[in-house]
Amino acid sequence: MAARELTLSGAPVLMYHGLAASLPAAVGAREAKYWVSPAAFARHLAQIREAGQRVRRLYDFWSGAADGPDNRSAIVLTIDDGRATDYEVAFPLLLAAGVRAEFFVNTATIERPGHLTWSQIVEMHRAGMSFQSHAHDHVLLPGMPARLLRNELETSKRLIEERVGRGVDFLAAPYGLLDRRVIAAARDVGYQAVCSSLSWPARPGRTVVNRVVVHRDTTAARFAAILARQPSAFLPSVARAALTYLPRRVLLKVRPRQLGAHLHLEDA
Ligand SMILES: [Zn+2]
Repeated sequence: MAARELTLSGAPVLMYHGLAASLPAAVGAREAKYWVSPAAFARHLAQIREAGQRVRRLYDFWSGAADGPDNRSAIVLTIDDGRATDYEVAFPLLLAAGVRAEFFVNTATIERPGHLTWSQIVEMHRAGMSFQSHAHDHVLLPGMPARLLRNELETSKRLIEERVGRGVDFLAAPYGLLDRRVIAAARDVGYQAVCSSLSWPARPGRTVVNRVVVHRDTTAARFAAILARQPSAFLPSVARAALTYLPRRVLLKVRPRQLGAHLHLEDA
């Protein structure tokens, strides 16, 4: 019998940022690794279809309505930061592939240069795309005073709901940094769950939804391994996340317990 690698249960919730063939001038070197080319994004959508995977709405996956107990065939697409390329590049590719994605937007940056406008958001929503909260501003939520934190979470939820006329169920923490206080505040404000940047398949019904970052340098082979739920496709990213968080922690003087996702691996 051929050796078979253990596969993980749950569904990869993929996280993208901007999409562009060449980087916009405003995008700094540190951010560049998160920008995926339109050709790569189109190839990912094709790979998902060829692998027999189904793109699910985050809520449908999370509520357990979409698939069987192991979520072997569910994939969720999410795109953060509300860039103009969400409309210009991602939206037509998603429509062409006949799939839907979740867009996590910062409501403070809507209508700003390089970002989505409300009319684009409404148009995308009418075409089946889903809009969720990335907080009002793109700020670090852990350590924020309680009143300001609540305002970040409440304002973005309310503004999106008012404009698109549909409930906002999920918060994606800017920089993927979470702590228990942020999670509690989000639940209190009415979010069902909070998305982290822990590169591991997500499980339905959990308060923290793990998401897998897709990088500019993510190869077709690694993407296929993510779809196949092979542990080796996820572990390097967990290591990379740890390396990313450590200098940030030192830099911002965030106490270890305020650090995000890895603390929620066991109890997510
Ligand atoms: Zn972000």
